[in-house]
Parts: sequence; structure tokens; C-alpha cells
Amino acid sequence: MTETARQLIDALKAGNRLQENDFLQILRLADVENVEYAKSLANDLRIKHFGNAIFLRGLVEFTNHCKNDCLYCGIRHSNVDVVRYRLSKEQILDCLEQGYAAGLRTLVLQGGEDAWFNDERMCDIVSAVKSKHSDIAVTLSLGERSYESYRRLKEAGADRYLLRHETATEWHYAKLHPSFQKLSVRMQCLEWLKELGYQVGCGMMIGSPYQTTECLATDLAFIQDFRPQMVGLGPFIPHHATPFANEPAGSVETTLFMLALVRLTLPKVLLPSTTALSTLHPEGRLRGILAGANVIMPNLSPTDVRDNYSLYDNKANTGLEAVEGVAKLDKELSTIGCHITVDRGDARY
Ligand code: SAH
Repeated sequence: MTETARQLIDALKAGNRLQENDFLQILRLADVENVEYAKSLANDLRIKHFGNAIFLRGLVEFTNHCKNDCLYCGIRHSNVDVVRYRLSKEQILDCLEQGYAAGLRTLVLQGGEDAWFNDERMCDIVSAVKSKHSDIAVTLSLGERSYESYRRLKEAGADRYLLRHETATEWHYAKLHPSFQKLSVRMQCLEWLKELGYQVGCGMMIGSPYQTTECLATDLAFIQDFRPQMVGLGPFIPHHATPFANEPAGSVETTLFMLALVRLTLPKVLLPSTTALSTLHPEGRLRGILAGANVIMPNLSPTDVRDNYSLYDNKANTGLEAVEGVAKLDKELSTIGCHITVDRGDARY
């Protein structure tokens, strides 16, 4: 075990604020033992704050139309091979009912940036969900919108918003996105969401093209300062019809280490063990939890559209990440002493 890395990991665990350079030292110096050490401290922290309960979020991928052109993403505007779809309000409410029956108490509405879902249509959907089940938390993941739009959606009943910052390093952001997409706009949106009282999630892919260890240290420092209630973090996986088709996927081990470091930085954060992680490793989901993650997001989307919401290749779709698999998932979790909880799972800060 490298001593300097261990001391810095201990300092983080003890609640100290680290400098960006400290995060960089941890990432650079850590050997296998340091990584295992961080994961076990993170797992202890998860248990301390949440016991063995794992929160579920039902994910509805309600549109794959997108005006943006993120170079890594399979549903980017330039990908003309995608069969585009939009779910109707009725279809979304059907997904909600299925999820509700399975015990899910958070609905995540995620989609491409699709102007068809303007404020009027989106607010109508959010309030319909809320009036069907007042005990459901609504999380939106619709990308960048105006302050006024976020305000109206909040007023309509939305509780949380996921908007991964993707990378907190300006030059890296420019490598991953066309020039009309700006990191400053994304960051402004995150600030607005916080100001409006949403529980906010940021996050990034691990191992995205051009990412350096410095980029990851900058991300951790940003997360420490921004104090999001949720952090979405999974490995980059190439999609065949994108400019990054031939880039290697991110590392499972680095993803697990980053999950652990995020848990140590923000002990009470809501941290999903992502589908991308289970796509790369058959035990990815459980290993994510053992590295500090405490949320799983089963897919509630209708089965006939799931293949069209393809952000990356070979997306896990084996049943466990889908709502049909909630009982199976609970059984799988029991092998590491965890269980699913029927609880909205709100942030505690
Ligand atoms: N349009 C919404 C939702 C984006 S999809 C928004 O802009 O926030 C959700 C997340 O999937 C993205 O934020 C990105 O981090 C991740 N993602 C996209 N393509 C990916 C890929 N090839 N590999 C891994 N994750 C990917």
C-alpha cells in the first residue's frame, strides 16, 4: 500500500476538504491495495448512512430524438440509423403503473434533447404522474433547458434533476462535444437547478476518449465543491455509429475506485451502480455497491423501444436491470447482504 495515497484517502474519510492536487495524488499513486482500501471504507460509509437498503429508480427513456451531437452518444443527432421514437403521455403513465406495482417510488424521465417535449407537454406529464401517485418522486433528465423551463417543471412537481457535467475540464469537454455545446452552459444549468431547489445530480463517464487522470481529479474537486445530492458515474462504452466507435471502453476497476472516492467525498450522496457498469462486467452491479453505490435504476421503458435507446453498444438488457427483474435483483442483492427498499430515497442534505 502506498503510504501517501493511504494518508490522503484517510483524510478524505475523516471529512477533510482535499485540494485538486490531493485527488490527483490519490489517483496517481494508488496501488491495488489502496484501491481495495478505499472501496472497503466507502462500503462501510454506505452501510453507516443507509444500512443495507438499496434504492430503486424506475427509468423511462421516453424519447430518443435529440438535437445535440455528443460524440460518444449513440442517439446523437448525426446518427441517421437510429429509429426515433417518442412515448405518449399514456405510455409513460403505463410505465409508471408497472413500476409502482413493483415497488418503485422514483420515476426517472430521461430523454434526448427533444423540442417536441416543450414546457407545456412536459409539465403536463409531470403533474399527471404526481396526481396519480403523490408518493412518487419525479426525476428529470432532459438535458439543458432555460431557467424558466426548469422553474416551470419544478412548479409542476419535479423533485430531482440529473444532468451529468460529463467532464469539468474545458478542453476535454470540447473533445467530447461539437462547438455549439458548451461546458459553461451545462454548469450554468446545474447552478440554476440547485438554486431552484431540485435535488441535483451531476457526473461523468470514466475512460471517455482523451480523459486524463488530471481530468478525473478536476471532476472530484468539482463534485466536492458543488455538493450534488446524486452522482451518476459509469464507464464509457463505445457505440459503433459514433466518431468514438473504435475507442476502448473505460475500465471497470477505475470506475469502482471513482465510485469509492465519490462516496468518501460526499458520504450521504445517492450513487447509482449504473447499467454501463453491469454491461462491462457480469458482477458490475454488485461490485459497484461494494464500492459504495446505493442506488439501482431498473429500466421501465416498454420493451419494444429499448433497443432504440442505445447510447452505447451491448447495453445490458438481460432482465435484472429491467422492472421484470425486481424480485431477481433482490435475490442477487441478498448475496452481499443487501436488499431493495420501497422508499423514495430522498437526499438527506
Ligand atoms: N439528454 C440527457 C440525457 C443524456 S443520456 C442529458 O443531456 O443529460 C445520460 C448519460 O448517458 C449521459 O449524460 C452520458 O454521460 C451517458 N452516456 C452517453 N453515451 C454513453 C456511452 N457511449 N457510454 C457510456 N455512457 C454514455
